[in-house]
Amino acid sequence: MSDLRLLCLGTGDAFSALYYSSCFALESGGHWLMVDCPHPIRKIVREGAQAAGVAFDVSKIDAIVLTHLHGDHVSGLECLGYYFRYILGRSLVVYTHIDVANSLWNGVLSGSMEWVIEKPGALPRQRALDDFFDLRLLPEGEETKAGPFRIACRKTIHSVPTIALRCTAAKRCLGYSADTMFDPTLIDWLADAHLIVHEANSAFMHTNLDDLLTVRPSIRKKLRITHYPDTLDLAKAPLPPMRQGTVITI
Ligand SMILES: [Zn+2]
Repeated sequence: MSDLRLLCLGTGDAFSALYYSSCFALESGGHWLMVDCPHPIRKIVREGAQAAGVAFDVSKIDAIVLTHLHGDHVSGLECLGYYFRYILGRSLVVYTHIDVANSLWNGVLSGSMEWVIEKPGALPRQRALDDFFDLRLLPEGEETKAGPFRIACRKTIHSVPTIALRCTAAKRCLGYSADTMFDPTLIDWLADAHLIVHEANSAFMHTNLDDLLTVRPSIRKKLRITHYPDTLDLAKAPLPPMRQGTVITI
């Protein structure tokens, strides 16, 4: 019987010198859904999978969900776009909200991916997002089916357009806050999930850990924190921290 598993690959914030940037992969029935894609993604995936004893590599990724376009969440996408096109010979499926998608090519990727000189002296040839990626939009207010997964999204309160997620497979649900200020209405939206991964970072437009401690006990017991600062003492954290290179069965 298949279940829903989370492979934790990175737990740090954008400035971390200890951890990879926050990202994870969900697995159900042999299908893999990556959530966010920081650089260096191949190294992050290899080390995390190896530490967890899981047979996972980027070649097994069925799709990526992008929560937003800050570099610590999207900086590995260029690498995977090239890797999928030139090494694996296929497009990488990317799910995100239209407000995130609108800036993905012109705001993030085009500077390094739009023009290619294919041999010395040749004129540059123009390429577009769909030369590398199969972009699929996540509408709000309904679930999107992605293999065995069903994905729901909701905008968060952050400094750029960002989506929180509910990912369901094998009758289990993972809730993910992504980057957000503390928002009780988002907590309510995530409340039915079996496991809730929430960011905990006191920086500008993020969630102060003390605020997370105010949620009602029935939700608090399902919380795991990520995107935490290097200064957090993991052994003494008041909520269980996600750990790089570990697997959680949801
Ligand atoms: Zn962010």
